[in-house]
Amino acid sequence: MSEIRYDPILDEYSVIAPERLHRPDCYAPAEKKRRKKIRECPFCEGHESMTPPEIFAIRENDPDTPGWKTRVVPNLYKAVKIEAPWSMHERGVYRVWDGFGAHEVIIDMPHHRLRMDEWSEEEYFNWLYTMRARLNDLRNDIRLLYIGLFKNHGHYGAATQQHPHTQLIALPAPPLGSLRQIRHARSFFREHGRSLFDALLASEREEGDRIVAESPGFTALSPYASGFAFETAIYSKKRVSDLGGLSDSDLHELARLTKRVIAALYIQLGDFDFNITLNTPPLQKNFATEEFFDDIPDIWHLGIRIVPRLFRLGGFELGSGMQINPVAPEEAASLLRESIEEMR
Ligand SMILES: [Zn+2]
Repeated sequence: MSEIRYDPILDEYSVIAPERLHRPDCYAPAEKKRRKKIRECPFCEGHESMTPPEIFAIRENDPDTPGWKTRVVPNLYKAVKIEAPWSMHERGVYRVWDGFGAHEVIIDMPHHRLRMDEWSEEEYFNWLYTMRARLNDLRNDIRLLYIGLFKNHGHYGAATQQHPHTQLIALPAPPLGSLRQIRHARSFFREHGRSLFDALLASEREEGDRIVAESPGFTALSPYASGFAFETAIYSKKRVSDLGGLSDSDLHELARLTKRVIAALYIQLGDFDFNITLNTPPLQKNFATEEFFDDIPDIWHLGIRIVPRLFRLGGFELGSGMQINPVAPEEAASLLRESIEEMR
């Protein structure tokens, strides 16, 4: 039977409807030819001159030459730019910010490696390390209130480049969805005296059937109200609200766990398209965030959400903002646990 479930972290409902799985297009992400156009790829090692000058890199030699592990460059097709004026105008009922912000591309690795289950543990670490470095650097610009870190992979994940990469968009205003989630987490904290994340992880441990894998500091689970089939979230068990709060050894631990979870997803789904997002809370205290900013360490835990994009979104999803998911999260978690067991 279908259920309408509520996700307290996203503050959103979704419909879990396993009977819809029998629709003809389900479980058949189009077998696309992923042609390797390495010669024209601007992100491959040796093609450094095809990108704008780098902002950051893990390397021990000169910038914009081969010999790096990760590189960060400005996005050529920026949604926002740092040179734009930092100003907001009211126009009648409307409000508009000039297109101020930062839009960067993190090139995750020098190789044109199309499957994330082929990444080494060190490559996962370098990826997390680079995101942490950019977050900590941009945090110093007090005009930037919010940083979105996300990865689009494959056609249904809205990727336009094949080469492994991650994007960062920093904005002067926080997205309302993020504000709503943090306000909700704060009201939970005030009501119950502990964080929503601690409460959720405790109840998941008790029930057990949605936990995919655990390490001392992190838990990977299939969210109770997953909007997407095989959606998986990894949450920090510790009081850490964003990547900036993780030490190098925490990053190694998170790299190891993320690698296992993603490998299990590949075993279950084949060469699938996906998005990965980080739940970064607002970075600065200002008029939009002052009501909760000092509470963030108490109320918010770092999370990584891996969202397989197996089916296209329909009108219901677009109109309501609510997802219909044909795979029960308990079923997904059990399959992923099996795959992780087999890896041992
Ligand atoms: Zn490439």
